[in-house]
This record gives sequence, structure tokens and C-alpha cells, in this order.
Amino acid sequence: MSPSDEDLGLYVHIPFCRRRCHFCAFYLEIAHPDRMALFHSALVQEISHYRRQEPQDGRALQSIYFGGGTPTSLPADQLATILTLIRAIWPTDGATEVTVEAHPSSVTVRDLTVLADAGFNRISFGAESMTDKDFVSIGRFGQVQDTAAAVQAARRAGFSNINLDLMYGLQGQSLQDWIRTLESLMTLAPSHISCYALTIEEGTRLAQDIARNLVLPPDDMLQIDMESAAERFLAETGFSRYEISNYAKPNYACRHNLLYWTGGEYLGLGPSAQSYLHGVRFGNVADLEAYAACLNDNRLPVTDRTILSASERQRDALVFGLRLLHGVPRTVVSAAERDRQIDELVAKGLLDADHDRVRLTSLGRRYADTVAEQLF
Ligand code: SF4
Repeated sequence: MSPSDEDLGLYVHIPFCRRRCHFCAFYLEIAHPDRMALFHSALVQEISHYRRQEPQDGRALQSIYFGGGTPTSLPADQLATILTLIRAIWPTDGATEVTVEAHPSSVTVRDLTVLADAGFNRISFGAESMTDKDFVSIGRFGQVQDTAAAVQAARRAGFSNINLDLMYGLQGQSLQDWIRTLESLMTLAPSHISCYALTIEEGTRLAQDIARNLVLPPDDMLQIDMESAAERFLAETGFSRYEISNYAKPNYACRHNLLYWTGGEYLGLGPSAQSYLHGVRFGNVADLEAYAACLNDNRLPVTDRTILSASERQRDALVFGLRLLHGVPRTVVSAAERDRQIDELVAKGLLDADHDRVRLTSLGRRYADTVAEQLF
């Protein structure tokens, strides 16, 4: 799973949601027609700007990913038009993975048919939980039965590659509740599942509620039990865990996210979107007004640009590569005393190592960033 020079992905950030969930720190706005119209015309300008620059040397895209926010806040016809514009500039082929994230309560069969007909071939629903009371605790709109209806509608529209995002360690969620969510999910037969532990992000409503003692912080030990339960349950139901938070049926690993974890290149469009091209990391301004103003001014809305040194690239290869269950080649470890450092982490039960590769153990996955730091 190493990237080649040809590997290139495109990410489009659609920064709108109907309501902000209590734990969410992504750059987004509450969906409003005027703001979405401003965004749409600015995004079209950004795509046109790249048409003139052609910075990707005509390389074919291996993946296109519409994320957010909630991309399906925009009308399906508009998403279809944006995809057509992108494909007119960057070559794609039959193997290109084209993902759209969707909120299960914001799509109809017609929307999904428009998206499938336009060429989206993978859909990722933010299911989060299959228990209504969890929706209240995280401030998510919609109802549990919307997820089942959305998955069935997606299948009718022609999607066979369907991901469901889940969160665990929610306020008041027991281990049994979590297992019931997983069991209930199986009746929907997804091809991919992402399981994220609830974390507290600065500036969120959840962080404020915890600081004011209105709710309890997530229970670390319970989250560990939930993670282990998910790994066991999903293995028994035919899913392979291939990354810390990601499980897939055979041949359904997410190609786009694999680019991030294996040092592949990607271009981000939309406010706050990040890019990594030709050894340079850069990001768009996280402000819709400023984003649109730059493009009106015929300038790309890039605010920071960092040329990564060889050492920084190696650090990224370790930090991201170790997230994958198959780990990284020993040669990626740059610690001065590589073998001694690896042996120490193996002795602590944090790392498995053989002649060629090192990979995190299940204990090591809980301390992935610390282990990566020690190997750097
Ligand atoms: S739906 Fe997703 S992107 Fe939107 S606020 Fe909730 S977690 Fe954030």
C-alpha cells in the first residue's frame, strides 16, 4: 500500500450543516441558501483557477472525496455539476473512487439517484449510533430509522460501496448499547465501517458542558472495552480492521484515506481544505468570506504553505503509517538507535516487529502518537 508518484486524490470541503453537533470542531457554517450560493460560485472559480494552472501534470485522480460539513446540504444537482466540472479538468478512470459524505436524514432516493448517475460510486453516511437517545446527547438531528431508510435508498440508487461512521463512548452509552448498535448496523450490510471514540475538542459545546460540570467526560476505560468489542464483533462478521478506526469487507478499504496514511498526494478545494503536493503542504483559508474574496480577486485562497524537509516527511510517514494495521517498513524508523528503540517498545508490548516491518499491537494502538514519537 505504498503510494506511487501517480497517486493523487482530490478533496472538496463542503462547509455546511443543518446544525452543529456538540462534539464537532470542523470548519463549517449552518446551512443557509445565500451562503451556499456564495460558496458554490467561489468553488467553481477555484476549480477554474486550477484549470488554468494545471499543477498536476495531467495525472489521473485515484480518488475524489466530497466531505464536510454535510455535502448533501447542497442540492444533489449542484454536487453533480461540481463533479462534472472536476472531471473535465482532472482525468479519472473507471477505477477512480468517488465518495460523497451524506447525512442520513438529508437525502431522498431522487438525490441519491442523481449522485449515482453523476458518477459518485461510494457513499459515507454519518450514522453515529443506532440508539435515539445518543442523538440527543450529541446534539445530532434526525432519527435512527433515517439511517436504515437512507442505506436502502442508496442501494436502490445503485450504490454498493456504503460506509457508515459510528461513534462510541457517548454520554450514558453502555457497552451493551454499543454492541446493540453494531448488531443493528449489520442488518444494513455496509461494506465499510468507521468507529471513532468520542473525543473532546477545544471550543466545542461538549468541551464547554464538561468544563461547567453539566456532563461527564468520556470514560477512557469504557472506550477501550468498546474498541475491543468492536474489533471482535466486526472480525466475526467479515470485516478486516485495516486502520485504527477503519474496518472493511475485502476490497472495500477507502482508497482516499489510504492516500493520507501512505504519504500520497492530494489537492483540497473549498474553505479550510488541506493539500499536499510535490512535498509542499498548504491549506485554504478557513473562512467562507475570505475564501470567496480571494477567488473574486483572481487569487488562490491559500493561507499557509510549508515545504516539508526530508525529516518532516519521514515523521509523517511514521505517524500516519503506524495507524495502518500492517505498519511501516523498519527503514521508516529514524530513531538514532533504531533496533534498540524498537526492541524496547516490543518488550513493553506496544510494538510487533519482524525482519522487515514494525506495527502497533492492540495496546500500542492506544498510544499511537507516543510510540511514533519514540521511533522518530
Ligand atoms: S453532521 Fe458531521 S460535520 Fe456536521 S456538525 Fe455533525 S459531526 Fe460536524
